[in-house]
Amino acid sequence: MSVEASERPTSAAKIQLIPHTPNNPARKSMPTRGENAPGAGLEAAKCLPLHGMDTYRKIIHIDMDAFFAAVEQRDNPALRGLPVAVGGNGPRGVISTASYEARRFGVHSALATAIARRRCPQLVLLQPRFDVYKGVNAQLAELFHEYTDLVEFLSIDEAFLDVTENKVGVELASDIAQDIRQRIREELQLTASAGVSYCKFLAKIASEQRKPDGLYTIHPDRAEHFIARLPIDKFWGVGPKTAERMRYIGVFNGGDLRKLTLPQLTSHFGKQGRMFYEFARGIDPRPVVTEHEAKSIGCERTFEKDLRTEMGAIVELYHVTLELLERLQRHKEFQGRTLTLKVKYEDFSQITRSVSQDKPFSTKEQILTKAKALLSKADRTKGIRLIGLSVSNPAPAETENHDRQWVQLSFDFTGQGTDTPSPKKARSSLRKN
Ligand SMILES: [Mg+2]
Repeated sequence: MSVEASERPTSAAKIQLIPHTPNNPARKSMPTRGENAPGAGLEAAKCLPLHGMDTYRKIIHIDMDAFFAAVEQRDNPALRGLPVAVGGNGPRGVISTASYEARRFGVHSALATAIARRRCPQLVLLQPRFDVYKGVNAQLAELFHEYTDLVEFLSIDEAFLDVTENKVGVELASDIAQDIRQRIREELQLTASAGVSYCKFLAKIASEQRKPDGLYTIHPDRAEHFIARLPIDKFWGVGPKTAERMRYIGVFNGGDLRKLTLPQLTSHFGKQGRMFYEFARGIDPRPVVTEHEAKSIGCERTFEKDLRTEMGAIVELYHVTLELLERLQRHKEFQGRTLTLKVKYEDFSQITRSVSQDKPFSTKEQILTKAKALLSKADRTKGIRLIGLSVSNPAPAETENHDRQWVQLSFDFTGQGTDTPSPKKARSSLRKN
């Protein structure tokens, strides 16, 4: 796992997994097994239009429609047809998920609850029931595994499936996607949208095309055409701020993006520039990585507004810590002794800081204390646009090294430990899904 680096095109606050550096397999490796090996198979001829990109893989992206809200409407029929939102109620409260009825009023995820209420006074606001959502997530995982073991959850309600080789012996990925959608409807009484393509980037974009309750396939021979017309804010990794920057330099769609050279893109967007360069050409060799292969577990948040105060940064760090804990609790077998903080600034520069300890990170206190210490080392003169936390399990030698680093860090941290927000406050601005 540990692959998705980027902010969401549609919801800047969506939780993402963090790439584990420096050996992020997503960026470096091609699939090596069987007929997925680079260059294998007769379909190699298809690669030509896409600059040598392998296009024979069959990737499905399944995304549940208005997940939290849909579960609430399923479980309480009185809510069906009403504008429903799941989210926080406090002064900093944020909408997590809005039903499609609520979306008609302009209520959407990551919107401040206060604004949502103004737009839709009759909005039914519900507190999240994470245990129920997690239960549905487990049912989804079970269902997906009937088709393939190559399942990678991006968040609680969306996943990639690599069905190039699948357990049901069905050749067309779109047939599998349709079957899965039908079973989700029948067995879980929920709807999902699916995208099908030869890589993760396009499969994910495809699932957005016919939402809700739709299926869309981007065939390899249509990929370039599709990408050229794709508005820049629909690209994976392009949130509102990046989109603004793109438009500023004259990039409004994939066709424009493709006119920029790699050095131009990296000078504007740092490491992400290479990703945009490749996406513009339909290149995305990242494999679907299952949780068993996880080298790290993490999550990150991109903020609607850059964080400018220390308190603001710590409050958000607290939220990210809670998310990380949730993920760790879902993977109890995972033991990570290194905690890494990632901070991305308003100017798109990015830092990571790590600290290691002898025992695995498993409690809120352990993680929050050290995360705050790491954050205290970050540059405070610039606005922060993203905070991420991950836990990984490095080689022992590395651990030793980090321990020494930690002694120094803990000294700097003294005196900053008293302003942890209460859990209630953290939950009130929950942003997820
Ligand atoms: Mg969804």
